[in-house]
Amino acid sequence: MKISSGQMPQNVKRFVATGTNLVNLILLACNIGYGILFWLYDADVLFYYICVSSIFFPFVCGMLKKGKKWTYIITVFLEIFLFMILAVVYLGWDYGFQQYCIGFVASLIFTNFYMSRERKINRTTMIIVIFNVLLYVGLRLWTYEHPYVYIIDNEILVKCFYIFNSLIGFAFLIMYLCIYSSTVHRLENSLTEMANVDPLTGISNRRKMQQMLKSVLEEYETQQYQTVIAMLDIDFFKKINDTYGHDAGDEVLKELAKILRDKHDEDEGFHVSRWGGEEFLIFYERHQKSREDIIEEFDMLREQIEDTVIQYNGCDIKITVTIGLSFYEKGETIESLIKEADKNLYIGKSAGRNRVIS
Ligand code: GH3
Ligand code: MG
Ligand code: MG
Repeated sequence: MKISSGQMPQNVKRFVATGTNLVNLILLACNIGYGILFWLYDADVLFYYICVSSIFFPFVCGMLKKGKKWTYIITVFLEIFLFMILAVVYLGWDYGFQQYCIGFVASLIFTNFYMSRERKINRTTMIIVIFNVLLYVGLRLWTYEHPYVYIIDNEILVKCFYIFNSLIGFAFLIMYLCIYSSTVHRLENSLTEMANVDPLTGISNRRKMQQMLKSVLEEYETQQYQTVIAMLDIDFFKKINDTYGHDAGDEVLKELAKILRDKHDEDEGFHVSRWGGEEFLIFYERHQKSREDIIEEFDMLREQIEDTVIQYNGCDIKITVTIGLSFYEKGETIESLIKEADKNLYIGKSAGRNRVIS
């Protein structure tokens, strides 16, 4: 499945933005560090290059803010590659700048392989890999002929350069790995949430509730728990929409969902879902109460809803609900349980609404 950034959930977008800011900060820190060293050791060309790229750095970051993601990525990589070429040409092979090629190629192959559904390396990646290999070989040959222009006469510092630059190569790989795994993980979580949560009310949707009923009731074949299903439907909801408008109707649905969610917060066994339209299915499980107590509890919920005043655009809206209950008997199917709750709801509606029927 391909997901464009436009379709990315908000939290994933935020995560990618934080990761990119971190990368920008690391790039800036490296620029400053290298700049100071090149200045101290009179490596003029490299120092000027660092100065120019640092001056342009805020503009490059600005591209990202303007949404020009690819212009930003290509500019940053070109900047790094040009720096690497200059560094190898002017300082030689011993400083390890050429390791960027290896790190970059490894991370590119890795991400391309795992990001593609077919687990294949695409043509663009192949071209970039070949270019990097040629560049690496070309630089090696160049340094045989022209070992160095500038010399940093501090062996420890040269070794540090080599280690640090090799680490940057690995850092590419680790950075790609972290961004890849976290993005996929967050994306998966968001997609699961999108598939299971009703976007208007924020409570479980029908799909999620059906899954839960299936898994929990299957467990009941071996363990006996008292359980009830309640089908709750708003009375004359069409009238609310007609009188106050569709948006007011949406607000009513949200407020009702909030009351039900609060009940779930009080009692974990009280599972709520938006079954469809203005109908909510409640699955009340793992309780030791008598049937009478449960009916009483649902009646109190009905009263609470009746007493709630929902304010919308200066209007006070009040609603009532009818609830059909169905108690689970061992061996019963989910379908028959829901059918029974539906039947009781219908009886409640016919009998005048605003009541609980079991
Ligand atoms: P009853 O007491 O018999 O249940 O009457 P009712 O008007 O509630 O039932 P009916 O099935 O005739 O109308 C349900 C209405 O719910 C129709 C539909 O426009 C409205 N509805 C369904 N989903 C939504 C929604 O997401 N938002 C809003 N505002 N209205 C919705
Ligand atoms: Mg209704
Ligand atoms: Mg209805």
